Amino acid sequence: MSAAGLAPDAFERIVFFTGAGLSAEAGLPTYRGSGGVWHEYDWERYACQAAFDEAPDRVWDFHDLRREAMGSVEPTRAHEIIATVQAAKPNTVVVTQNIDGLHQRAGAKGVIELHGSVWRVRCACPTSIQENHELPLASRTCPDCGAWRRPDIIWFGDALKREPVEAAVLAISNADLLISIGTSGVVYPAAELPRLAQQAGAVLVEINPEATPVSDWFDIHLREGASSALARLWP
Ligand code: NAD
Repeated sequence: MSAAGLAPDAFERIVFFTGAGLSAEAGLPTYRGSGGVWHEYDWERYACQAAFDEAPDRVWDFHDLRREAMGSVEPTRAHEIIATVQAAKPNTVVVTQNIDGLHQRAGAKGVIELHGSVWRVRCACPTSIQENHELPLASRTCPDCGAWRRPDIIWFGDALKREPVEAAVLAISNADLLISIGTSGVVYPAAELPRLAQQAGAVLVEINPEATPVSDWFDIHLREGASSALARLWP
């Protein structure tokens, strides 16, 4: 199927499945591309539980920088188009691997965040997850339990949370159109989720300037940036 043959308005259960490439156009580095975060920072020192246990201030210094960067950029045209499509078609679901909150700032609702959000923190308290936009974080320990707070994100080696995964599986399994944008298809288990839509008979579109290891699953490949591709689909 060609992109020209796709009439996105004919679909009723659209899922946008997004990754770091979507926010690259906002000015946030991806993880693996050139200029990617993990070329500059060693994740074993900055983004795993063992690093946090060893040196929580070092890990928080890194995440304060990430929060500052993510808070200083604006959602892109692509984020806006996704939110507009969802407003027009309320069955539209956004499933993201991004932790930057840009979908919500563009107006998207009910965003399923597979890898958490830098704008939430948690500690050892059972109900401790809190939205927090302080730059830098005012207190790195919890005033109630005294334990270190940590960003409510999935670090390397962490298991994904059950609720967002289940919500994503449900939405993707019911999709009639899945549009994957800016994800390298190498971070599992997130990478395998589009396959559920393929198995359910949905039309799959991949928006990414580069081919990925999962490109074969997709019916249509738009080898360009997120904003220009979405603007062609929803002019
Ligand atoms: P990735 O860094 O592994 O891959 C990014 C992909 O985006 C690449 O395939 C690249 O070709 C593509 N890309 C680059 N520019 C693009 C553009 N303008 N339009 C469309 N695609 C473009 O990212 P990933 O697959 O999301 O996996 C990395 C993990 O790290 C995920 O959890 C991810 O969300 C997280 N991460 C999040 C952010 C963020 O929240 N902004 C930033 C970096 C990494």
